[in-house]
Amino acid sequence: MRALYPGSFDPLTLGHLDLIERGVRLFDGLVVAVLENPAKRPCFSLEQRLDQIREATAHLAGIEVASFDGLTVEMARRCGAGVILRGLRALSDFEYELQIAHTNHSLAPDLETLFMATATHHSFLSSSVVREVARFGGDVRHMVPAGVAQDLGRLFNRPTLPG
Ligand code: ADP
Repeated sequence: MRALYPGSFDPLTLGHLDLIERGVRLFDGLVVAVLENPAKRPCFSLEQRLDQIREATAHLAGIEVASFDGLTVEMARRCGAGVILRGLRALSDFEYELQIAHTNHSLAPDLETLFMATATHHSFLSSSVVREVARFGGDVRHMVPAGVAQDLGRLFNRPTLPG
């Protein structure tokens, strides 16, 4: 069975990557899909986010990287995925994730949502925390893949960051 891992990935963190590395072992193929939602005014363009994910997952077999807009269940259908993979960091994620899972189930009952618990040492990570730390010149190299750290350094013009 193939799985879809949808998200904003603005930017990809080591938490996301951990989920991808563990998820790909469970399925015949994993499609990492970046949601194109201009209303969210992302920090990184769609192309940049796709490149960041492609570079960080180049060592993994069975990964496809794609973008989508519209409904996640439609994207899952287009990809031939039977499972939507999502991560759970803390109780605070649960309510939101459960609501989305129920909504998606009501739209596509044949599609299952599977949650994976985040690795404990990555459970504090979120894209917004990473953006905030990088904006003020903090070191984010233990939070994101190397290429993303460079992109953040360039974006915020911070000499303390690599790149
Ligand atoms: P979205 O805007 O769809 O929530 P995100 O890029 O923030 O997109 O997250 C995509 C998925 O990855 C979500 O299921 C989220 O819970 C999960 N996720 C986010 N951060 C982490 C992390 N540090 N470890 C594991 N999973 C995470």
